[in-house]
Amino acid sequence: MKRLFASGMALAFAVLVVATFARTPAAQTDPRVLEACEPGKQAIDARALPRTIDQNRCPVAGRVIEDGMAGAAVPPPGEGVHVELLTERGAQEFGVRRLEDGAIELDHVGSESAGTGAGPPAFTTKGVGECGDAGFDENGWRVEGTHVYRINWRTTPRDVPRRAAISAIRQASGNVADTLNGCRLGDRVPAGVAYKGYTARHAGVGGGACETDDGLSVVSFGALSNPGNLAAACVHTRAKAGYDVVTSSDVKLSKVGHHWTTNPNSRSCRGRYDIEGVMTHERGHTFGLGHVVEDYHPNLTMGPVINGPCQSSERSLGRGDVLGLDGKYP
Ligand SMILES: [Zn+2]
Repeated sequence: MKRLFASGMALAFAVLVVATFARTPAAQTDPRVLEACEPGKQAIDARALPRTIDQNRCPVAGRVIEDGMAGAAVPPPGEGVHVELLTERGAQEFGVRRLEDGAIELDHVGSESAGTGAGPPAFTTKGVGECGDAGFDENGWRVEGTHVYRINWRTTPRDVPRRAAISAIRQASGNVADTLNGCRLGDRVPAGVAYKGYTARHAGVGGGACETDDGLSVVSFGALSNPGNLAAACVHTRAKAGYDVVTSSDVKLSKVGHHWTTNPNSRSCRGRYDIEGVMTHERGHTFGLGHVVEDYHPNLTMGPVINGPCQSSERSLGRGDVLGLDGKYP
């Protein structure tokens, strides 16, 4: 039955390819389908693709592009999706953006983590406190108006009180929208965030791949493909001149392989990750920040390495985190 289904899918893709060629004579410059995109391969390996792809060379409807452990269902033309997979040791980002003509642009392909990513800055800020470090990496989207989200709080791990977990997630969302910082920098971000209560839905993140945008923003606990994965965040966007606009943003906090807490600074904390701190980092992505290089910016919230369990340093933004947000809303 499974094989029958697979060959049916292959046939469907073959028909799609033929139909696509028949419809668009303009794509005749190089009509060959890229090997990585051949029908029958449900998941397409991003590392085998060029950064910009003509859709006629890679029939993508209904398929997922994977970049290592991260991946994303290919969005429709004019939309984009960005995934971050946060592990205990670093993070991997991956973005798929589709232009109005259907062309596909890939971003952040390859393995990034602690020491790599956006490239070293002109000077090192290691040893500088979070208020002395002005580094940030801009991702090309922003929240317009208010980011509305729900929490599936029934998924909260048994050893964390639900009320405390909800409170930590809400606080984290406000930390970014209100640019909470210890550097006396005012809040210049007009975009807001609003919690609208419980949902029975789960964050639209499979093992580490973003599902199609359903327009709803959900935070839930669950499982990710690898027990070392702490969290995954998906940001869905719609193309707009200047900055793309966030249409939804899902976050899944993994409760497989490690434990969470809302009291990371308590003496009894052992190996538990701070819900508010990790969630603040993920909300940084929702609001359009990318990663700075951890080795050079260890004190910023948007470094890709959470500074370990039983600490809360990611809760408050550093100078660079705030400047990155401010820059979007001149
Ligand atoms: Zn991140």
